[in-house]
Order: sequence, then C-alpha cells, then structure tokens
Amino acid sequence: MNAYHKEQIDALRFVDRYLVNLSTFERRALDESVAEYLDFRHEVDFFLNRYFCEICSHTCYRSRLSACCSREGIITFFGDVVVNRLVATDDKVDKLLAVLRKSNDGFKCVYLSSSGCLWSVKPIVCQMYLCDRAKNKVFGQDSWLKDEWKLLEQRRKGFTWPDRPVLFDDLESRFLKAGFQSPLMYLHSSPGLLRVKQKAGLYQGKRAKR
Ligand code: SF4
Ligand code: SF4
Repeated sequence: MNAYHKEQIDALRFVDRYLVNLSTFERRALDESVAEYLDFRHEVDFFLNRYFCEICSHTCYRSRLSACCSREGIITFFGDVVVNRLVATDDKVDKLLAVLRKSNDGFKCVYLSSSGCLWSVKPIVCQMYLCDRAKNKVFGQDSWLKDEWKLLEQRRKGFTWPDRPVLFDDLESRFLKAGFQSPLMYLHSSPGLLRVKQKAGLYQGKRAKR
C-alpha cells in the first residue's frame, strides 16, 4: 500500500470513528452544515449533465479513456472525505476501502471502476475540472455558458477557498478539535492556503501540525 492509499484509508476511518460517537442532534447539525454545499453540487451536476455530457461521452466515456480520471493520486480534501461519508452508504464506503487496499497500476485513478467514480460525492477538484477541449467546444458555441460556469466556480470558492470562513476549513477544524489529524487537511497545512487565511486575518501564523 503506498502513502496515498494509506492517507485516504486513514481519513475515511477517522471520519467513521468521529461520526459513530455523535449524538443524533450533533449528527443532524453536521448534516445541516453541508446541506448548502450539496445543493451547490447538485447544481454543478445539472450544468455538467446538460452541457458537457455529450462531449465527455463522445471524447472519453465511450472509449473509457477519460483524461479526467487517468491519473493516480488525485487531490482530495479532508472536507471531500467528510461530505462523501455523510452521503454514502456503508456499502459504498466499503468499496472505497477495498480498492485502496489493492495495488493500482498507476494508469488511472484508484477510485475509477467499470461503472464510473466510486465516490458518492466526488472530490471537488474532480467535479470542477474541465479540459480545454471540452471548454472550447461548449463555451465556444454559447459564450453565456462560460459566464454561468464562472459563477459556479465563484460559488465553489465560497465553500473551499479560505479567504473567508468556509465549510472545508470548518470541517477540518471540527476534526482537529476532536483530536484527529490528516495530511488531507490542506486548509490547516498547505503553506499557500495558510497564507490566504493569514491575509484574511483567519490565521495567526502558527504552523499547523501534520
Ligand atoms: S472534461 Fe475533457 S477529459 Fe474530462 S471527460 Fe470531458 S472531454 Fe474527457
Ligand atoms: S476520484 Fe473519481 S472523479 Fe476523481 S479522478 Fe478518481 S475516479 Fe475520477
């Protein structure tokens, strides 16, 4: 098992251990805290299904050569793991753990199965990635769609970019307070993201432990 797989497994286990100890009230509050983000994700799904399904099917899905998923070690934020776990069934999480325990040939993402991505709510980096070819084709035909996409990218920042209090930072803080640490907690460990927080007055300069 390589370091990436271990980090992913550890994060999944942390989240499970945390959730199992929550009261019904605490769990409901956590679910509510991600509800707006899930609405946003549904809107992005709708946009992509409506405008990119054809080109992605034609270019990649039929040939099973999706450039989007052809790389091992995709970045996953701790917040991605938490959100996915809140939505996924136990069976779905078992499937994630099972593939992470196997070795990967390195030519595709470990989470890509014959029926697509194994995540229930895929990582935000994956969700918002569009290759230039697809963007040029779709946005070249209808330029207002480019503006719609820009709006969705702005909204993504409202959940993930810590120049203000954001969900992904809150989720990491919640688990750190409970004594869990993960290398996937980039909003508490990435020098670049810490600088963003520092500039916004949300971080006092003490380097987070990894
Ligand atoms: S965004 Fe580009 S690389 Fe990804 S599935 Fe669509 S066409 Fe393929
Ligand atoms: S996590 Fe899912 S969407 Fe992202 S690269 Fe892997 S298989 Fe593709």
